[in-house]
Amino acid sequence: MEIQHNTDISKLTTLRVKASAELFAAPSSVDELLELFQEIKANNWTWNILGAGSNTLLSSRPLKGILVSTNNLDFVNKIDDTHYEVGAGLRMPKFCALMSREALSGTEFMEGIPGSIGGGIVMNAGAHAAEISDILVAAKLLNLKTLELEDWSKEDLGLEYRRSKVNPQTHLIVSAAFELKPGNKDQIRALVQANNTARTTRQPIKSFTCGCTFKNPKVGYGAGQLIDELGIKGHKVGDFMISNLHGNFFENQGEGTSFEFCELMKFVQVKAKVDKGIELKPEVKPMGEFSEDEMEIWS
Ligand SMILES: Cc1cc2nc3c(=O)[nH]c(=O)nc-3n(C[C@H](O)[C@H](O)[C@H](O)COP(=O)(O)OP(=O)(O)OC[C@H]3O[C@@H](n4cnc5c(N)ncnc54)[C@H](O)[C@@H]3O)c2cc1C
Repeated sequence: MEIQHNTDISKLTTLRVKASAELFAAPSSVDELLELFQEIKANNWTWNILGAGSNTLLSSRPLKGILVSTNNLDFVNKIDDTHYEVGAGLRMPKFCALMSREALSGTEFMEGIPGSIGGGIVMNAGAHAAEISDILVAAKLLNLKTLELEDWSKEDLGLEYRRSKVNPQTHLIVSAAFELKPGNKDQIRALVQANNTARTTRQPIKSFTCGCTFKNPKVGYGAGQLIDELGIKGHKVGDFMISNLHGNFFENQGEGTSFEFCELMKFVQVKAKVDKGIELKPEVKPMGEFSEDEMEIWS
């Protein structure tokens, strides 16, 4: 497996911020993954794990150590008629398309969430009143200290609203097992289509964004609605702009950097606090080096 040096990684996240990594690798099997982590340990490299990069803000400062992409761990194993084991790198919409073809229900909510299964578990991704924890049975994780594979139950994963107990500095999700329900192919496809339409009319899905930048402050009160009420849609910092279609999406209109993105996040947090007394917590996760001032956004 090739380890690339000084690689441009700007295209590896949906935000497309300018970024580069000292080292980069994308293992395509569990054996390759194990070999890679043996090498990482032997060389004492630091690491970061990236799935589809749809919930990650990469720093525009050079990323030290190695970036490990799960993109090529995208296998699908049928266990029985209603159970599948899938690799962490498989994209959620692709899993949804495969299950729809098999007339299996449960993944319809994944349509339009551009993340990987691994990232989906870390974030307990969800939409349309469903989330990954509804269909997840268990997952296989690589312990990055012992380099042993571990079986985690759904309870071990501790899935809550847009969070889990998985720490990418100690564990890498290799695969996950899901239980689906037999359904009607036409009805499943109709629901997938309806989910797709709902998204395309409400979100700037063709722009470079990380989806929702902030978590919703309360059940039933979205960060998008709050930002709308603050009257700051369209506000820009450098190449980043608060979307006019959905206030919780920040669009990269060109060569946006993490510095600009952080400044825009801070602007929104301060405005929400001053005008509404609400503390907005980020949904997007930072990766790489950020200043102390920038890290306050996540504190
Ligand atoms: C247009 C758009 C729409 C979106 N809509 C939704 C939505 O409706 N609902 C929703 O919940 N989210 C949504 N998102 C956000 C995002 O798609 C989800 O959070 C998704 O689960 C992130 O998966 P990923 O593979 O891209 O994760 P990444 O961004 O690659 O990683 C996220 C975190 O998980 C870690 N990680 C990734 N893979 C692994 C692994 N295998 N093992 C250990 N750690 C890992 C990373 O280190 C990082 O800390 C949207 C994003 C976009 C751009």
